[in-house]
Amino acid sequence: MEGLEALPDLGIIPDDSVDGIVLTHAHQDHVGAIPVLMRRHPRARLFATDATKQIGDVMLHNSVNVMLRMREEKNVTAYPLFTHREVDASLKRWQNVPLRHRWSFDGERLGPNEEAPLNFEFYDAGHILGSVGVMIRGEGRTVFYTGDVNFDNQTVSSAARFPEEEPIDVLIIETTRGDSPLPEGFTRAAEEQRLAEALREAFDRGGAVVIPVFALGKTQELLAILSGMQDRGQLVRGLPVYIGGLSTKLTEIYDKLAGQWPRLKPDLQLLDAISPFVVTGRDVTELPLKRGRIYALTSGMMTENTLSNIFAGRVLSQPEHSLFFIGYADPESPGGRIRSAKNGDSVRLDSGLPPQELACNVQSFNFSAHASRESIRAWVNKVAPKKIVLVHGDAPAIEWFRQTLQSDLPNSEIVVPVPGEPLEL
Ligand SMILES: [Zn+2]
Ligand SMILES: [Zn+2]
Repeated sequence: MEGLEALPDLGIIPDDSVDGIVLTHAHQDHVGAIPVLMRRHPRARLFATDATKQIGDVMLHNSVNVMLRMREEKNVTAYPLFTHREVDASLKRWQNVPLRHRWSFDGERLGPNEEAPLNFEFYDAGHILGSVGVMIRGEGRTVFYTGDVNFDNQTVSSAARFPEEEPIDVLIIETTRGDSPLPEGFTRAAEEQRLAEALREAFDRGGAVVIPVFALGKTQELLAILSGMQDRGQLVRGLPVYIGGLSTKLTEIYDKLAGQWPRLKPDLQLLDAISPFVVTGRDVTELPLKRGRIYALTSGMMTENTLSNIFAGRVLSQPEHSLFFIGYADPESPGGRIRSAKNGDSVRLDSGLPPQELACNVQSFNFSAHASRESIRAWVNKVAPKKIVLVHGDAPAIEWFRQTLQSDLPNSEIVVPVPGEPLEL
């Protein structure tokens, strides 16, 4: 979707009626419409962690650049939906809120014995740098929204620390991985070993490895994984790794905030450890494609006109090269289509280009930043909320959670919200 269609239906909320906006983290699907929302609600403050604000600043300005380019190249006349100046103006109304403090929607931190009619508190969500779940308390009731969460350690991000004792009346929970059971015996460490082995084999074929990644989160996790391989002697130190410009800016924030946010390996400086080459949109077509190198390029789903999509055109039909998927790709995206294709199939990267024969070595790994459905189920059973609202998942993912949680917790009400319809909490 592009243009106005890509926006949520913000018209459902009467203009200038919102007091406060809580932002859980700065991934594009959460932050992308914020300047438009804040334009419609000029008195609303936005509450987010300091890390989310720093990342959001970069993400939103990048968004303006992408929209300006799409206006020019693809004639999307609705773009840009907001300007650089508007991003800066909206960021002035973002208030930094730290983890584990009660906060009022007037923007004040509450003392231990102070009350506010409505207050909220952030809990580390373990998904990416700065990500939180939020507990909202008022009138003797509690609502907890998980945002995107991971209950297990990744390589940089440490597992979520969500409340387990406090009763939750209404839980709004993400369901991203409801459709994918965790393979028997899966561990992240074993998956890292499998990737190390696959990289060695890929280099033995005499080719390069392209890894489509999201700029935020996945890139930094991959750099940390590669750094671990260097330390274990599984990867040559100094092996050339290429990442995009936006990825580099976001990695700088990860490095800068390394000691200020709960994470694993707080002493690891990712850019120092890997010294990646920075690729910009302009030079991707001239980028040397050389054996023994890793090209960790955005976007993760190989969306048209992105670095990974353009660069993969040179790799797909060459049997000596490899293409590794390490995260989610929508089945309808170019990445999703290639991932499910077989060698010898013809695949299309771009609607404006002829199809190509798939001949390179394609492999998939699971380094998801989202909680497994098993870990979400275990936590929900522990807190046993009275009402559970299922969001952020495809229909089959939501359906698995609906059935499973209904039988686990027969006294709870499970709600699948209908887009555009108001829901009483
Ligand atoms: Zn996210
Ligand atoms: Zn999300």
